[in-house]
Amino acid sequence: MNMFDVEKIREQFPLLTQKVNGKNLVYLDNGATVQKPLRVIEKIKEIYTEYNSNIHRGVHYLSNKTTEAYENARETVRNFINANSTEEIIFTKGTTDAINLVAFSFGEKYIKKGDEILIAETEHHSNIVPWQMMCERKGAKIKVIPADNNGELILSEYKKLLNKRTKLVAVAQVANSLGIINPIEDIIYEARKTGAKTLIDGAQAVQHKSVDVQKLDCDFYAFSGHKTYAETGIGILYGKKELLNEMPPYQGGGDMIKSVSFEKTEYTDLPLKFEAGTSNYVGAISLGEAINFINSVGIEKIEKYETELLKYAEEKLSLINGLTIYGKSKNKTSAVSFLLKGIHFYDTGMILDKLGIAVRTGAHCAEPTMKNFGISGTVRASFAMYNTKEEIDKLYEGLLKVKNMLL
Ligand code: PMP
Repeated sequence: MNMFDVEKIREQFPLLTQKVNGKNLVYLDNGATVQKPLRVIEKIKEIYTEYNSNIHRGVHYLSNKTTEAYENARETVRNFINANSTEEIIFTKGTTDAINLVAFSFGEKYIKKGDEILIAETEHHSNIVPWQMMCERKGAKIKVIPADNNGELILSEYKKLLNKRTKLVAVAQVANSLGIINPIEDIIYEARKTGAKTLIDGAQAVQHKSVDVQKLDCDFYAFSGHKTYAETGIGILYGKKELLNEMPPYQGGGDMIKSVSFEKTEYTDLPLKFEAGTSNYVGAISLGEAINFINSVGIEKIEKYETELLKYAEEKLSLINGLTIYGKSKNKTSAVSFLLKGIHFYDTGMILDKLGIAVRTGAHCAEPTMKNFGISGTVRASFAMYNTKEEIDKLYEGLLKVKNMLL
């Protein structure tokens, strides 16, 4: 595909053609999860109809074939985020699982009483709660990088918070509730100066913009397959090899050992050291296929198209009297969070649903972010490569109807 042809892209997403409440579906809940292209759906069918067998355990044909597809997917992921080696690519259940892995294993190895972890005010709960649990276990403290009235992180405050006790800085590349792109390059650079390690939550980033973990020089990077056009229950933790090698395993079981006896168990090498038990190999292979799909469209083209879409959406929604957009920034991607004055977000979401328009309503697993704005939730429209300006027009018209009905 040379040009960005959204109609051609839409043809590859069978779910998008359906009607909801008698209306053509307008799916604007992509921040929560995206729909799947045919080639990913067909890949899953192919695995189950042609070569499904548990990986890394058999000498037989099917097991070898599935293992090969699984390891090829790992190489596809490595290439996608430009990691140095496939040993640095761990298959997890998702972003949440990846962050919990680091919170546990990194925490066990490196965190002591009195140490500090920095997270941002605009984090998803997945990048808050695992650190709280770890701090409770280890007697460490969480410090919060504040956001301003627009939801942008205040870098000068961040610099003040960094000190010798800071062991890790964990921030999202893109804040899920607002769509704001955080200045992670500066955040990583400053952390490195004090010797703190960095974890970037890329759950809302990799599907929208090109990511190069070596260029970023982050220590860990996490993302989810289901937001990246693959199956649910699969995700990635990238970690620098030196660090992963030093960290103890997160879970014990099959596949992560070299030898087991009742006296002593020897763990295996990276990356399998962190993949105990039968991993979601079908999900992993689907992620490889999803990345091949993204690559066939071109991540730069996707970024450009989605940026135009977001700009169009923000301009169009701003025309509505009484509509407030939360999270105003020049650096945003693919999500617009808003409220209509005097109308509860649930009512807005429910009426839009009657019109076939799917948006997310509530706190978006980011209660501290909402608190910063003094609200309990928003309506969030979030976009993927298959959305169109016509769909944004329908959202606009839908919101005018909501106002007419409720005000
Ligand atoms: N971080 C961010 C920024 C997210 O948007 C999400 C999902 N909404 C997560 C973490 C958690 O991802 P998952 O539920 O796939 O583990």
